[in-house]
Amino acid sequence: MGLVFDIQHYAIHDGPGIRTIVFLKGCPLDCPWCHNPESKSPKIEFMWWSDKCIGCKACIMACPNDAIIFNPGLKINEAKCNYCEKCINECYSEALMIVGKDMTVNEVMNEIEKDIPFYEESGGGVTFSGGEPLLQPVFLNNLLKECKNHKIHTAIETCGYANPETILTIKENVDLFLYDIKFMNGKLHETYTGVSNKLILRNLKLLRDKNVIIRVPLIPGVNDDFEQMEILGDFVFNLGFKEVHILPYHKAGIEKLKRLNISKTPFHITKTLSEELINKIEELLVKYNLKVKIGG
Ligand code: SF4
Ligand code: SF4
Repeated sequence: MGLVFDIQHYAIHDGPGIRTIVFLKGCPLDCPWCHNPESKSPKIEFMWWSDKCIGCKACIMACPNDAIIFNPGLKINEAKCNYCEKCINECYSEALMIVGKDMTVNEVMNEIEKDIPFYEESGGGVTFSGGEPLLQPVFLNNLLKECKNHKIHTAIETCGYANPETILTIKENVDLFLYDIKFMNGKLHETYTGVSNKLILRNLKLLRDKNVIIRVPLIPGVNDDFEQMEILGDFVFNLGFKEVHILPYHKAGIEKLKRLNISKTPFHITKTLSEELINKIEELLVKYNLKVKIGG
């Protein structure tokens, strides 16, 4: 069993060809710019759209456990909720959604197997993303092994913050690592993500014999300085990796945070990413013999 929060079919990003993306819930980092904030908690959560809600209270009437209150927005008392989804099924305006579902390996594989004909035609496969897929190592490895049994190409999108034993155990079943590096500067990494980058950089060294694409979420005013990019280019080149993807920041996470009722100060970006700056960063990384792509 593992906690999955989404399965996307026919994706054309996060790896080659047409892919199925399986999103596992839970992440050890707490990046304020995260575009999937619903992925962070390793628990089932609710999202509520105040603008879609018509105040009919059908959800309250459907709940067998009196777990829903309006005060003034909708709130779920998690201590009373058994995640039966009756409230979701009664909400015709689709204002209420549950994020996260316990699934077995077989249930996930049934979803993946639907797309096998597309993988064969396009050179695609499955990408395990999150959250952080390595946070559920046994479930992930069982899925990877099943994919390999079906001769399916596998990729994982990871922040690299995991037990090195986990990396060594799963790596033989992974064809492509999409490995995030947010900062080379340890202090900044800790300030923004809540954890040190030492383990992340050390774990990357365990993957020298694998196909790895480094991914850098480019956050304006946060990690877009040239000095840090030079250090990154040098580090990646010396490890023998050949490709870097720059992922320019987008604001998708801000609205989702509101719907999750997370009482955090929204992340304010004061700068914009100019095309000129992105091109300069690309030029700078190309000097290290790296193939650079803008976007995932
Ligand atoms: S059922 Fe949906 S629309 Fe009606 S009150 Fe509940 S959340 Fe709002
Ligand atoms: S999931 Fe079930 S128990 Fe939880 S709030 Fe909705 S109806 Fe109530």
